[in-house]
Amino acid sequence: MKASRFFISTLKEAPAEAALASHKLMIRAGLIKANASGLYTWMPMGLRVLRKVERVVREEMERAGSVELLMPVVQPAELWQESGRWEFYGKELLRLKDRHERDFCMGPTCEEVITDIVRKEITSYKQLPKNFYHIQTKFRDEVRPRFGVMRAREFVMKDAYSFHADYESLVRDGYQPMYDAYCRIFDRLGLNYRPVAADTGSIGGTGSHEFQVLAESGEDVIAYSDASDYAANIELAQTLRLQGERRPSEKALEKVSTPNVKTIESLVRFLNIPVEQTLKSIVVEGENEGEIVLLLLRGDHEFNDIKAEKLAGVKAPLTFAAPELIRAQFGADGGSLGPVGFKGKVYADFAVEKGADWVIGANDNGWHYTGFNFGRDAAEPEFADLRNVVEGDPSPCGKGSLKLARGIEVGHVFQLRDKYSAAMNAAFLDSNGKSQIMEMGCYGIGITRIVAAAIEQNNDGRGIIWTDAMAPFQAVIVPMNYKKSDAVREAADKIYAELCAAGADVLLDDRDERAGVLLADSELLGIPHRIVIGDRGLKEGKVEYARRTDSEAQSVAVEEAAAKVLAALRA
Ligand code: ATP
Ligand code: MG
Repeated sequence: MKASRFFISTLKEAPAEAALASHKLMIRAGLIKANASGLYTWMPMGLRVLRKVERVVREEMERAGSVELLMPVVQPAELWQESGRWEFYGKELLRLKDRHERDFCMGPTCEEVITDIVRKEITSYKQLPKNFYHIQTKFRDEVRPRFGVMRAREFVMKDAYSFHADYESLVRDGYQPMYDAYCRIFDRLGLNYRPVAADTGSIGGTGSHEFQVLAESGEDVIAYSDASDYAANIELAQTLRLQGERRPSEKALEKVSTPNVKTIESLVRFLNIPVEQTLKSIVVEGENEGEIVLLLLRGDHEFNDIKAEKLAGVKAPLTFAAPELIRAQFGADGGSLGPVGFKGKVYADFAVEKGADWVIGANDNGWHYTGFNFGRDAAEPEFADLRNVVEGDPSPCGKGSLKLARGIEVGHVFQLRDKYSAAMNAAFLDSNGKSQIMEMGCYGIGITRIVAAAIEQNNDGRGIIWTDAMAPFQAVIVPMNYKKSDAVREAADKIYAELCAAGADVLLDDRDERAGVLLADSELLGIPHRIVIGDRGLKEGKVEYARRTDSEAQSVAVEEAAAKVLAALRA
């Protein structure tokens, strides 16, 4: 491709609202242009990257036995009503009406559509297992679209769905092959990633993994063991029940005045006590109307709502109790609450079980208790895992202790079991002629997010650093003075022709710009291999070759330049 014919639109400065390196660089390199919040045009340069990602994904999906189809972006409401998600999905689902006032939505994912197709097409065990995928635009009306295409409203996803006669087949023919294909995809794209166990929500079990690209800016937190393969999203990573005896109490219960103290920080400051000595109270709605449940955890620990939602007697989705309800039950407001005198269900975090002499709200605004002890001052609560793990916690696998890292979720594999197939009656006849509900798995990859995640992981002060597999062009030829110098033009054209003939994806930057601009652009664009051609070098029959990651260029003979690049691409 010649740059003069292609479209390059680079910027010196990134827009002020771009916070992440990847967002800034994608805009500066002209890969994307914003149209509205969370909506982007993929410009020619960016689209080339997107297509390369798609190509790798397609190859590995095909290799794993998945079959491509293409489902629509606009989906009928009836299917979503059948699965129950028309109600459940909430505002992220963009709903629309057609001219006949019929309800539709913009597909955020395609479980309903594929299940509808499969239940009509597949009737016998002989047609199972099957795995379908497509690469298609999705729409999610995200609360906070941000970080460019990382969390957009419209984005491209590869989603696959597998259907099976039984659970063994789901794991053996669906989940495991997809898991392996994902590893190959992310390996080929050169990402530093980690598969981590993930929450399965109401489906339960252990059948879900996220593929997390490790990056400081990631929105997810991953906990992993320093002594084993254990890795899980912090949403899921369990804390263990403590061993040994409870510490004996040394203090009597005492009610102390704490005027205007409403947070743990102000409590710690006001009483000058260690935060580990405090308990915080979280009040959520119970399963039955009007019921509330009190959750207690150490002041320095972070509440984990996903764990709490699964506790017996707690309403799902987790709902914090309204201030009026709290006031009616406790006689006090949030910030002054505790278990003393509370008659309802109380859960306390495992980390609290062996402690004594806690400082906690007194159910009287502006008052706290010191020297609070379970069993003595209030009934023993039920102990449960309510918090996020912290660095240094013992690993739930039993080996080593946990460390934390941040990640960007680029893929997700999930054993759906019969969640959709039962709701939508996707049944088949087994070998005994008996009707059975299919087992189902789903497997997503954020195609557009991968582009941002790769840049987040690989960039420097000068721009993007692509791997060969993802780069918009594998190599760039930068001629200095292409228009004026015949020697430079001839050498550039010759190397360009050689590389094209060999099938390399090469950009000849023949734009009429200063050499400095061309060089800076090639670095901003992150093209992995570069040949610079100038009159001075040509006098000795030389050009310069460098990788994007090299600090210095090598001088190579003009005749060997193309071969040099091709050898590097093969390596
Ligand atoms: P997240 O927790 O980041 O919102 P999710 O759990 O909602 O992701 P899935 O429903 O599993 O995501 O979708 C599959 C993949 O689609 C994700 O792994 C991610 O790579 C991508 N994805 C999801 N939401 C977005 C978005 N708003 N913008 C870009 N990519 C997205
Ligand atoms: Mg989401």
